[in-house]
Amino acid sequence: MGNQAYAKPRGTVDLLGDEAKRYLQLTQVFSVLAEEYGARLILTPTFEETPLFIRGVGDSSDIVRKQTFDLVNKGSSKDYTLRPEFTAGVVRSFIENKIYASPDTPQRFYYYGSVFRYERPGAGRLREFRQFGVEFFDKRLDFNSQAEAIILAYRGARRVLNRELRVTLNYLGGNLARASYRKALTDYFKNFIENMCEDCKERFRLNPLRILDCKVEKDQQVVKGAPRIEDYLSHEDKEEFASILKVLKDLKIPFVISGRMVRGLDYYTGTVFEIEDASHPELGALGGGGKYSSLVSALGGPEIEGIGFSYGLDRLLEASKESFKAEEKNPSFFVLPMGKEKGCQEKASLVAELLREKGYAAVMPSLDKSVGGAFKMADRIKAKKVLLVNSDLTLEEKDMEKREQRKVTLEDLLK
Ligand code: AMP
Repeated sequence: MGNQAYAKPRGTVDLLGDEAKRYLQLTQVFSVLAEEYGARLILTPTFEETPLFIRGVGDSSDIVRKQTFDLVNKGSSKDYTLRPEFTAGVVRSFIENKIYASPDTPQRFYYYGSVFRYERPGAGRLREFRQFGVEFFDKRLDFNSQAEAIILAYRGARRVLNRELRVTLNYLGGNLARASYRKALTDYFKNFIENMCEDCKERFRLNPLRILDCKVEKDQQVVKGAPRIEDYLSHEDKEEFASILKVLKDLKIPFVISGRMVRGLDYYTGTVFEIEDASHPELGALGGGGKYSSLVSALGGPEIEGIGFSYGLDRLLEASKESFKAEEKNPSFFVLPMGKEKGCQEKASLVAELLREKGYAAVMPSLDKSVGGAFKMADRIKAKKVLLVNSDLTLEEKDMEKREQRKVTLEDLLK
């Protein structure tokens, strides 16, 4: 070993043992659920051309202003950025592969993997974290598709947490409503902006809607008096929102409406939502998403609407420690050469391989381990049976639960 000790980068985690397994199983549970809603898996690159995220996520979002991991340009004519979220890449793929031309609408996708944001690491806040999400696309996303995105998000979290969740919803309105609301906010905030935080000053310039999200105490006082979105929604907006809420009510999905929730990305229109663990609000949102009417066309595609959401899987792993255990799968056989002769060890390897070929998990200890040490290991890893390979190449099987030992033949075992 060298004398240099390396540490993982700030804001990253090693997922070890059961945690790593639970991560895979979470993605499994959510994949099955997403497929119940007709979604198909889509896997897109971990990095994309930088302008995709600037156009896609929006240059007024904190994510793009301060939080992207931009790759060092090694003389290529393009700049690349590690994905800070999935939607922009999925939409890029949706357009590039002309998936929008399919007559089988709505088109639905799900995905999972790492995303990267250069944030100040803290509780529940990493620089590389994992998400699972879905995106639904249609020419005009009807209330049903919108409601289903929320229901899917709710049901997935319920499946692994099995306790009360809180869904918070807001309706940002179509492009028209947003434009007049934006103007109203500009008119309101211009009288206060001088005394607000630096971030708000920049948001004021780029997208005043984002000021509603500000967490600074004194700014929140100002936000309290701001115009409310519901006063700017059109009749159609209100009807659509009401239809979505009716579906949720009929299914008894608990929700609250918050006119202040706008979420961090610029592209949302219509419904936005977040899901929290009702008993652990300190974890922050477990997931969130919303509808985007103009993102596909803004990225060069046709006029197609989307709605999507993502869970933060690291937060869900933390929240589900008790309710969602790793599936325990103990090895069926611990194959133990009793002699130190080469022939005995070779026979043991061969037997282990034949067992694996039959689909059994067969583990062998390091060959220099003593028999006593090996048995202790078999206990620790909860092997069901120890298969002793004797020096005369006969086999014996010890049932570790019943503590019974008997002679066996290879033919018996592989039957
Ligand atoms: P967003 O794309 O910002 O809406 O995030 C979706 C979900 O990802 C959030 O609800 C969180 O659960 C999770 N998330 C966002 N940022 C982080 C982070 N820095 N570290 C861990 N999880 C995060």
